[in-house]
Amino acid sequence: MNSSLLSRFVTVFFAIALCEFSGLAQKSGPHNKTFSDSLKIEGLLKKMTIDEKVGQMSLFLSEESIITGPSQTKDSRDLIRAGKVGGIFNVHTVDNVRELQRIAVEESRLKIPLLFGLDVIHGYRTIFPIPLGQASSWDLEGIEKAERIAATEATADGIDWTFAPMVDLARDPRWGRVSEGAGEDTWLGCRIAAARVRGFQGRDLKDPRSLLACAKHFAAYGAALAGRDYNTVDMSTLSLYEWYLPTYDACVHAGVGSIMTSFNEINGTPSTSNKWLLTDILRKSWGFKGFVVTDFNAINELVPHGVAEDLKDAARLALNAGVDMDMQGSAYITSLPEILNQKKITIKQIDDAVRRILLVKIKMGLFDDPYRQCTHEREKKEIFTHDNLAFARKMVSESCVLLKNEKNILPITQTVKSIAVIGPLADSKQDMLGNWDATGRSEDCITLLAGVRGHVADNIVVEYKKGCNVSDNDTSGFRAAVKLASESDFVILALGEEGELSGEASSRTNIDLPGIQNEFARAILKIGKPTVVVLFNGRPLAISNLSSHAPAILETWFGGTQAGNGIADVLFGDYNPSGKLTMTFPRNVGQIPIFYNTKNTGRPFNQADSNEKYVSRYLDSPNTPLYPFGFGLSYTSFAYSNLIIGVLGKTIKVEVTITNSGNREGEEIAQLYVHQKVGSITRPLKELKGFQKVFLKKGEAKTLSFSLSKDDLAFFHPDLKKSFEPGEYLFFVGGNSVDTMQKAISLK
Ligand code: BGC
Repeated sequence: MNSSLLSRFVTVFFAIALCEFSGLAQKSGPHNKTFSDSLKIEGLLKKMTIDEKVGQMSLFLSEESIITGPSQTKDSRDLIRAGKVGGIFNVHTVDNVRELQRIAVEESRLKIPLLFGLDVIHGYRTIFPIPLGQASSWDLEGIEKAERIAATEATADGIDWTFAPMVDLARDPRWGRVSEGAGEDTWLGCRIAAARVRGFQGRDLKDPRSLLACAKHFAAYGAALAGRDYNTVDMSTLSLYEWYLPTYDACVHAGVGSIMTSFNEINGTPSTSNKWLLTDILRKSWGFKGFVVTDFNAINELVPHGVAEDLKDAARLALNAGVDMDMQGSAYITSLPEILNQKKITIKQIDDAVRRILLVKIKMGLFDDPYRQCTHEREKKEIFTHDNLAFARKMVSESCVLLKNEKNILPITQTVKSIAVIGPLADSKQDMLGNWDATGRSEDCITLLAGVRGHVADNIVVEYKKGCNVSDNDTSGFRAAVKLASESDFVILALGEEGELSGEASSRTNIDLPGIQNEFARAILKIGKPTVVVLFNGRPLAISNLSSHAPAILETWFGGTQAGNGIADVLFGDYNPSGKLTMTFPRNVGQIPIFYNTKNTGRPFNQADSNEKYVSRYLDSPNTPLYPFGFGLSYTSFAYSNLIIGVLGKTIKVEVTITNSGNREGEEIAQLYVHQKVGSITRPLKELKGFQKVFLKKGEAKTLSFSLSKDDLAFFHPDLKKSFEPGEYLFFVGGNSVDTMQKAISLK
């Protein structure tokens, strides 16, 4: 063997040894490095200059990109030619992607393909309900399928990588980004997170219809103080472990290929320079094998955070922490070569980051087909199809949550001959998309008005008046709207937020209806016609006032392209609503943060002793929310009975009978909660541990059975180890987190 061959053999041997023997394979997932992957990676690394290596670690916008943060775009074509780019984001269309990829694989020295990223958050061109809306369906298969559709559409158009799922647990609806997540519960959040990763990535990343997922924003971005976006996060390590970290871990278990750092600091260290998070927890403890990308400009932001002196210092901190790829900040490309020369970092650190990025590119098949079969033909055939739209419509209906339905005024019956569709959101196509609409088009959207018109028979008159705007105080449209409502048999009143009032950089301190809408609602409701308020919003709202006056309220979030059709299906009873809230609706902003899995305190408030002063309560508001976690009505009713808890070997068995006690068929989301009465540390009063979505005909009864292991009841202790504690437990089953039946059992 000659010496160069020998050195190659040694390099490859060590690379493989490193990967196979140090447990490098992610617990489950697409990242198991094969011998030939290692050969390819090590071969490339040997040829790469330092600039080309750092180039792989750089993600840039290009001139065609959608802008989603503070930025200057560079001349991306020159950078690509020079091999100084690893990926391009926010560009789409087959032609744009193909042209940029062509430059990379034909005109750059090493011909390494680019990765194309985009925020595919709730659909690509067929837009589904916002993630918080989809979460309200509790339909894990449906959510997975929606992401599969999004992945198929996005990849047909040249996208390889989505910056989703966003799995930040959130207990503060002032934070606009609650719209992008699954709500306040860790257990449910983990299941939804995994379903979304599976949906995006499919079975094999090499499949041209698989979209690389990116779990974000690591970590605890949703706990920004006072709900102000990008704000400081300060919490106990125990809370971080118990509530905030598991959703990211669930993505790692589901095989997510990339993770995005968050903008916030946690207990004094920004995530992007946080070695404990990115290396100790993510890689060493959870075994994550994909690559870590920053959020937009987040390395640069280490300077204003006050932990880095300048950009070079910031780049050093980020690399040391475990960041592999720099999103748009140019911190790596401008600083790493220089600080490497100064020996502030090592070439091994750079090589390891490049290895992780190249491995994902190999696993995605980019070296075999850099265009991953994105063609005009696929674009035409696979995007915005009839089937995709039909499924989106179903997801809209499933995401709706019926909050109130006095005297069963819903569903709207055939005896109604005239319907007034009123309100600032009744006919706004753009707002149906919510925020993060990828390549969704407002002109494709079915508004509530269009959905209602498309639904009713010809002999029913549907008329529309806007009445007011969402966010200003103009009352000039009131009179015409009031007149129309007075002359109609039924009123559908569409209120809420503009799509842009939630999402990134959209925190609010007042989360009641904006503008003049409460006054407008009062003017319409005063008429006394059967009226349903249809809400469009990206967060729980504090609508105590509205909810005390309106006879019926249907929460619909932002439903996307098929919003109006899916909502009309619910309003007219073709779909019996089954959605349940995954985030508490407060009575007022002063109650925030408010969430269902709270502790008792030493001075719990008990309604029976309401004169007692020294208890944990407010003087001017009840403690209870307006609508609790898990809440949602149906057009029928469900009765729970025969709760039985038993232990069979290592399994805790819970059985309950559920009966459809109302007048029509429907689906119920039956929820199982647990409380440990006495623990070595205090425990929440209720924690979700299971649910089942069951369909029951009128009068039908079914016995549901849940199986739990003791591990399911384990929790993190102050030493950050997770274990089960024997003792007395309460098990609760019901249709929401408050109205439950319960039974105690002692577990050894
Ligand atoms: C957001 C991310 C997003 C990124 C790229 C950032 O401003 O925080 O969620 O993925 O932009 O568009």
